[in-house]
Amino acid sequence: MTDGTSKVCRKCGLIYPFNWFYKQIRENGTYGRRAQCKKCLLDTKHKYLANPENRKKQQKTYKEYHNKLEVKKRKRNNRIIWEIKNKERTAINLKRWKKENPNKIKILRLRQARKRSNDPLWRMQNNMSRAIRKSLKDNKNGSWTNLVDYSIEELKMHLEQGWEDWMSWDNYGRPKNGEQKWVIDHIKPQVLFIIIDQYCQEFKDCWALNNLQPLSWIENSKKHARYMEGA
Ligand SMILES: [Zn+2]
Repeated sequence: MTDGTSKVCRKCGLIYPFNWFYKQIRENGTYGRRAQCKKCLLDTKHKYLANPENRKKQQKTYKEYHNKLEVKKRKRNNRIIWEIKNKERTAINLKRWKKENPNKIKILRLRQARKRSNDPLWRMQNNMSRAIRKSLKDNKNGSWTNLVDYSIEELKMHLEQGWEDWMSWDNYGRPKNGEQKWVIDHIKPQVLFIIIDQYCQEFKDCWALNNLQPLSWIENSKKHARYMEGA
């Protein structure tokens, strides 16, 4: 029997405080406590996992569960929500992680560089993300794809429809050796928009699909120079 703050474990028969029993959702939606104490449940688990075959089985279930797309998405969303709510802690954690894992950083950078050079579509998305963040003066919350009202697929199609004959995903980006390349251009240049935050109309107009076009890198640079002189 219990006095309201403790409970008898059904297995070992000992009396423990309530928080020595795991919480459990009842069928009516309220919370109850497990019949066995934490120690007994852990003992059972450890005995079960001592058998290598059981261990393998458990690892397989764990992997399968965490590889599910909807689980991955949910975890990612939860993490982003947490990071937005805990900006300072996120920055501190990231700084510490970077300091403690210089080798991982190196590998990540290499992998990113490789991806940038091998996967133009990925590079385009990455550039969009960076340019949008910059236009919001680093006050960007969440993914850029949630800030615009078109999908990556729609952006891709829109750009491809605007291509000149010579343009393709193979010559997207900034030229390294003077070759002809194209970039995403704002038809009405970004400098002419007064962007306050991601919710204002100016931001929406600036990054609207009908304000974006593929343009040769040279033309884009000339346009930039013109507007910077005029500014
Ligand atoms: Zn017990």
